[in-house]
Amino acid sequence: MFDLIDLHTHSLYSDGTLTPAELVARAAQRRVTVLALTDHDTTAGCAEALEACRSQGIGFVPGAELTVGWRGQELHVVGLGLDPDNATLRAQVGDVLARRRTRIAAIGAKLRADRTLGGFDPSAAVLAGQAVPTRTHVARELVRAGHADSLQKAFDRFLARRTAGYVPQEWPTLASAIVAIAAAGGQAVLAHPHRYRLSNGALKELCGAFRAAGGAGIEVSLAGISPNDAARLARLARQFGLAGSVASDFHEPGLPWRPLGRFAKLPDDVEPLLSRLTPL
Ligand code: AMP
Ligand code: MN
Ligand code: MN
Ligand code: MN
Repeated sequence: MFDLIDLHTHSLYSDGTLTPAELVARAAQRRVTVLALTDHDTTAGCAEALEACRSQGIGFVPGAELTVGWRGQELHVVGLGLDPDNATLRAQVGDVLARRRTRIAAIGAKLRADRTLGGFDPSAAVLAGQAVPTRTHVARELVRAGHADSLQKAFDRFLARRTAGYVPQEWPTLASAIVAIAAAGGQAVLAHPHRYRLSNGALKELCGAFRAAGGAGIEVSLAGISPNDAARLARLARQFGLAGSVASDFHEPGLPWRPLGRFAKLPDDVEPLLSRLTPL
């Protein structure tokens, strides 16, 4: 039997489209044996996911994907095996949430001023409808209103850096997120390091800083990653003494190239992050 595990997924408590129960049912269908829920800046779905995992016989790891800033760049830190109700963690995500809401309103104002959109501003709907409003929700509204054919095109045309709706944002520091995850009893994992626009040298500095601040691991086995990137991440894990995590970053069934569950086998010499966790 191949062992499928997944330590990075989203539900509709952030920018996923499935309820935690639907997510867990899908994981069970794919024979995932250990599942973490890691919504952006919230642990609100963890109780539902735990209950669903219990009834399906899946090991559950409570988590969250925290948004941070490092040298002016937005990074994501996944916290795994944490207490969803911890006060320090709550304060951290409360701060991010306030910044998110301000940012989405500012993105809406910029889109409203864009001549090609004819005054379209999805921000009020996104802010009213979402506990953790993200640019993904704005992108979905742009697609729904016919202003883009796909989420990717909505990002590329209206939301990415150097486009009409881009609003830069300061986020809490990398160190503050690692401290909050540790306070909640969790392990901090640097999410999808290959996706940041960082030179090799800067990525090494990031891994060093992450480790020095108390980070435990980096994602190594990721859905859709090139063999080249996978080898690079495994090298970083070894070089900086970081454990390797296994992650789909699943958001929705409509993106089938990012399916739930990854084979648990990591390259030799990379310690599995899972060995530092006790699934519930
Ligand atoms: P936010 O946290 O509001 O900046 O939104 C970030 C989320 O948008 C990420 O977690 C991704 O799910 C999604 N995202 C970011 N950049 C892109 C992109 N270029 N294409 C598609 N989705 C993206
Ligand atoms: Mn997302
Ligand atoms: Mn992410
Ligand atoms: Mn994610």
